[in-house]
Amino acid sequence: MIKGIHLNAPLFGFDNSYARLPEHFFARLSPTPVSRPRLVSTNEDLAVHLKLDPALLDSAEGTQILAGNRVPGDAEPLAMAYAGFQFGGWVPQLGDGRAILLGEVVDRDGVRRDIQLKGCGQTPFSRNGDGRAALGPVLREYILSEAMHALGVPTTRALAVVTTGEQVRRERSLPGAVLTRVAQSHIRVGTFQFFAARQDTDALRLLADHVIDRHYPDTRESAQPYLALLDAVVDAQATLVATWKLIGFIHGVMNTDNTSICGETIDYGPCAFMDTYHPDRVYSSIDHAGRYAYGNQAPIAHWNLAGFAQTLIPLIDSDAAQSREMAQEMINTFPAKFEAAYNAGVREKLGFQSSKEEDPVLMEDLLTVMADHHADFTLVFRRLCLLETDHRSADGVVRELFDEPAAFDQWVVRWRARLRDEANGEPGRQQRMLTVNPAYIPRNHRVEEVIRAAEDHGDFMPFERLHQVLRRPYAEQESAIQYQNPPRPEEIVQATFCGT
Ligand code: AMP
Ligand code: MG
Repeated sequence: MIKGIHLNAPLFGFDNSYARLPEHFFARLSPTPVSRPRLVSTNEDLAVHLKLDPALLDSAEGTQILAGNRVPGDAEPLAMAYAGFQFGGWVPQLGDGRAILLGEVVDRDGVRRDIQLKGCGQTPFSRNGDGRAALGPVLREYILSEAMHALGVPTTRALAVVTTGEQVRRERSLPGAVLTRVAQSHIRVGTFQFFAARQDTDALRLLADHVIDRHYPDTRESAQPYLALLDAVVDAQATLVATWKLIGFIHGVMNTDNTSICGETIDYGPCAFMDTYHPDRVYSSIDHAGRYAYGNQAPIAHWNLAGFAQTLIPLIDSDAAQSREMAQEMINTFPAKFEAAYNAGVREKLGFQSSKEEDPVLMEDLLTVMADHHADFTLVFRRLCLLETDHRSADGVVRELFDEPAAFDQWVVRWRARLRDEANGEPGRQQRMLTVNPAYIPRNHRVEEVIRAAEDHGDFMPFERLHQVLRRPYAEQESAIQYQNPPRPEEIVQATFCGT
């Protein structure tokens, strides 16, 4: 059989630009088949968007493909090479240790998308890993990534989940699964660092050109395309991490190998949405020092981008000192870009259409009261939408979220005073606020509940139900009010795990 051609297998309409890069960018190999694949879920809307046939994905043959047992005829399966800084420590070779890129399709919007199987067997980059994924983390990634998409956050997406019929060994034996992941690309800061560490400037240039063509075509027109690329990546990350902060999302493992070049949220491991607000909140069981705490995410993104800038120095200018200086200047723009994106989002969350210098302080003061009095992040902002500008009759719904309700009263007086400054801001204010302050987030205890039911009882109903609710996070859904509720004390999830 010729490599990449699988006789009689259906075609996906793949056009594989990454596979056309030099052979040392990846390892070509097919997924390792599993014994008894069973379809759990396919994402029909996404399939249609990708111009894939949902009926094929739902068929017995589709299950074989999504499990890695058969490979579409036009796929060119490969595992990508990359490196990365993990918790600040350099790891010269990581790479797809349990994921295989099947190929790329161009979707209905003309956007190129990777289709990747995650958990589909060992690759040359597996190190000591088994190349597999457990069902729990796969369902987590499916729910979280699709919820992020519905919330309007740039993210990889989930096309399907199949169980493998095989057990994987972690702390205990767990059912195995394969996630089909879709991304604008799986190129990471760590992909650049892989070649930079090997001083392979030719490869860096090819990679940078590939990224420019694929994600940032406008930068091609610039007098300094690689500097413009850096600018664009800094922009994308600043906006992304600001968006995370605005919805209470904690990625949990912001290593450079988990930092996507196109600015999508990628590699959902021990990530979590906060319940009660605290800037130091950490869920990941392995993040002992709080490096990736909620409030640290912007400085960490800045640090990761400095690492990216470093890799571009040989490309930006032939004079290394000059190049370094330009890269440094560009990296220095991150904090201001982040603040601008965050503050714009803050104004929307608080219902302001105009911008006042004191707005960030007003937000910060609310957050401080929330932290001091254990208020639920999502519910405070959601219910703030319901408050009247001119009287206080409705305030109780927000006050009751603070363990000392009076703590909210001083702040809300200031908020109302600020609202009165808005020229004609009242019409539509509530409606605008409701479209940026979600009612439904994938709360940790709900995600846990889904995983428990699936792992312990093979019951995927809670998964389906939660996923359906999270498709419309900004809409009030009468039959799903309970999904808005924070955990009861005994339901609180203290730690999350990568499950690798
Ligand atoms: P992650 O924590 O998922 O971002 O993974 C970090 C690195 O470890 C990547 O290179 C993964 O491919 C690799 N990895 C994680 N889990 C496994 C596994 N079970 N088998 C092989 N490689 C893995
Ligand atoms: Mg990763």
